[in-house]
Amino acid sequence: MALLEMTGVRKAFGSHVVLRAVDLEIEPGQCVVLIGASGSGKSTLLRCVNLLETVDDGVITFEGRDITDPRMDADAVRSRMGLVFQSYNLFPHLSVLGNVTLALRKVHGVAAGEAEERGLAMLARVGLESKAAARPDDLSGGQQQRVAIARALVTGPGLMLLDEVTSALDPELVGEVLDLLGELKDDGVTMLLNTHEMGFARDVADTVCFLHDGVIHESGTPAQVLDDPSQERTRAFLSRLR
Ligand code: ADP
Ligand code: MG
Repeated sequence: MALLEMTGVRKAFGSHVVLRAVDLEIEPGQCVVLIGASGSGKSTLLRCVNLLETVDDGVITFEGRDITDPRMDADAVRSRMGLVFQSYNLFPHLSVLGNVTLALRKVHGVAAGEAEERGLAMLARVGLESKAAARPDDLSGGQQQRVAIARALVTGPGLMLLDEVTSALDPELVGEVLDLLGELKDDGVTMLLNTHEMGFARDVADTVCFLHDGVIHESGTPAQVLDDPSQERTRAFLSRLR
């Protein structure tokens, strides 16, 4: 069974239908990259998966449960997902380690000593153990985004959702964050993300999904979708990037 399965998902804001009928599946360990024009609904799709938006129609199952069932405990679902945005939103008054361990202690009820141990191990994983005591403001943007990724990963989520996590970074800092995501993929972390970094999609994605007109208009391997698209709309979108 797929880890995440979206079937016929519809989401409108008033009369503006953003997602018409989205079908999408992710198997454990897969990296699925969403591409599409600005305003095509990529962020909305990720927000629906994280239950930050309520879908109008359709079903989303995650880890075997229908999370669109209104009786579902949204906080419990969210605690099984790691969400990272373009803006890293670290707490400036907390140390790097404090940021990484906050949810472990407050949401997952992990004791301080164990939280610290797991936080330090996760900081080592993203190459920032030496920054544990620093304040976020003392770090570069790329380092701050790596801390945000560590914070999302430390609770052991079943799925990572990453919304344009390199878009706010200076160009020279993009690579270190993309490299980290590639390593996480090698470690078996399941990811659904959207990005404009087509090189990354080509290297790391198992599946690329082109979102257009409220549906996944075309999906397949990076080679199929990026190098040999079957749909005219996909070709037009890709040609505008070049
Ligand atoms: P993308 O991430 O692909 O750029 P978004 O998912 O952010 O696209 O937005 C898709 C469309 O939905 C846009 O037209 C946007 O203005 C609209 N939209 C997103 N969120 C809201 C909201 N909370 N209220 C009204 N319209 C929204
Ligand atoms: Mg967006």
